[in-house]
Amino acid sequence: MTYRKIDFELLRAIYEIIPDKSRVLTEKHDLISYSFDASFGSFEPEVIVQPLLTEEISYIVKFANQYTIPIYPRGQSTSLSGGPLPVNGGIVLDLSRMTHRLEVYPDDLIAVVSPGVLTGDIHKAAEQYGLMYPPDPSSSAVCTIGGNLAENSGGPRGLKYGVTKDYVLGLTVVTPSGDIVRTGGKTIKNVTGYDLTKLIVGSEGTLGIISEAVLKLVPKPKSSETLLAAFNEIETAGAAVSKILTSGILPSKLEILDKGCIHSVEAYEPSGLPLDAEAVLLIEVDGHPSATKEEIIEVAEKCKEIGAASIKIAESNEEKNQLWKARKLISPAITRIKPTKISEDATVPLSQIPEMFKRLKEIRDKFQVSLVVCGHAGDGNLHPNIVADIRDQDEMERAEKAVEEIFRCAVELGGTLSGEHGIGIMKAPFMEMELGKEGLHLMKVIKEAWDPNNIMNPGKIFPYTAQGLLFRR
Ligand SMILES: Cc1cc2nc3c(=O)[nH]c(=O)nc-3n(C[C@H](O)[C@H](O)[C@H](O)COP(=O)(O)OP(=O)(O)OC[C@H]3O[C@@H](n4cnc5c(N)ncnc54)[C@H](O)[C@@H]3O)c2cc1C
Repeated sequence: MTYRKIDFELLRAIYEIIPDKSRVLTEKHDLISYSFDASFGSFEPEVIVQPLLTEEISYIVKFANQYTIPIYPRGQSTSLSGGPLPVNGGIVLDLSRMTHRLEVYPDDLIAVVSPGVLTGDIHKAAEQYGLMYPPDPSSSAVCTIGGNLAENSGGPRGLKYGVTKDYVLGLTVVTPSGDIVRTGGKTIKNVTGYDLTKLIVGSEGTLGIISEAVLKLVPKPKSSETLLAAFNEIETAGAAVSKILTSGILPSKLEILDKGCIHSVEAYEPSGLPLDAEAVLLIEVDGHPSATKEEIIEVAEKCKEIGAASIKIAESNEEKNQLWKARKLISPAITRIKPTKISEDATVPLSQIPEMFKRLKEIRDKFQVSLVVCGHAGDGNLHPNIVADIRDQDEMERAEKAVEEIFRCAVELGGTLSGEHGIGIMKAPFMEMELGKEGLHLMKVIKEAWDPNNIMNPGKIFPYTAQGLLFRR
């Protein structure tokens, strides 16, 4: 596909749609600022447009479609898979300024939100009414709901509460031809026609631009308890996951941190994690106060039975918050080891967690890479993180091979390339490995029917335009 470059005439046409020049950015420093996400590719757009209204998005998309200009939706660019990167130049549509709606309707248990609203702000707004919006990516303080919807983001609460797609009732979407479409509605039940809402959620901005969403809220549990269990072998920690989940208790969070994560966090900010452990499980149960008190003791017993070296139940809110803060510190802490973090999210069936840990150790030794593992172990969603230095060509080549092997292992064990970070550009070359030729073809047919000119976030998900892995750029 050849895309048209944005010349002076086309830029003038953009100013006619968005006369407010402060919302059309073309300076070199702006182009550089918008060339990154939280992965490590870098591609400059030709222009950045910051719409405030659905209608403005529609006009810009119609214009881009008419002149075959690629258009890249972007929230806060915290994607770990290259999702918002403008790999073919064109227009970056920065939706982070569309924050005008954050309305909670407590009687309907719903919230209506604009795409640029931060996920953490939705949590706070729901809590004011004794309600909860469960999806909670670790980046919730800085990422947008638009980005969460496009990536179908998860987080620690996925085990009990599910992920973003489970809390979307309706969407307003600007299609690649610029039409404004409403899908779903405000009701929990809705079986009118194809479920386009579910198709768009997780489509990574390749099928359209989400300009508003109706989210489902649930009652906020009255109480929670937190437990930290330390293990001398990571495989035992992995085996404890199934043991707990078959005991009749469904924790709200069940996270794992390996030795590398523990040591990095303690060096970054001492948080009370045991330095002599090979791995820890960090577990939360929520619900009625009398139930959570009993359940956390049962979880402790299960951990003991399977061989935990030590167990600590948090006694105060302060202690709970400190432990959960430690979990959130992993990302900044491990980049102190080396500056380039390759954060994967290969996901396996629960029974395969111990085997996946064994294979990750083998991969670390085989390719001599710094590999630390954390993750939402309760739903099999592990985060093997390779930390490297992008300036070291040889190390990046080894990291690239290690990542490919991680994907291969996850698929071989009956899992998936991505549990929550999306495919973007980083995993596009591996799609066929998981989906097979026919599965991938069917997805391409859908994309081509929606976006025949391939203007909507081109270069993502599908390998036919893949840039390949970007490690060595
Ligand atoms: C420290 C850290 C921790 C993280 N933890 C988690 C975690 O626990 N769970 C998890 O799932 N992810 C996690 N992430 C990944 C990331 O935060 C999520 O993918 C998030 O949803 C991205 O939101 P964003 O606003 O930054 O979107 P962006 O990164 O800007 O965009 C993400 C994708 O969405 C598309 N997009 C953005 N807005 C729209 C829109 N309105 N309409 C259509 N498409 C759109 C973009 O084109 C792109 O493909 C983490 C990232 C970091 C850096």
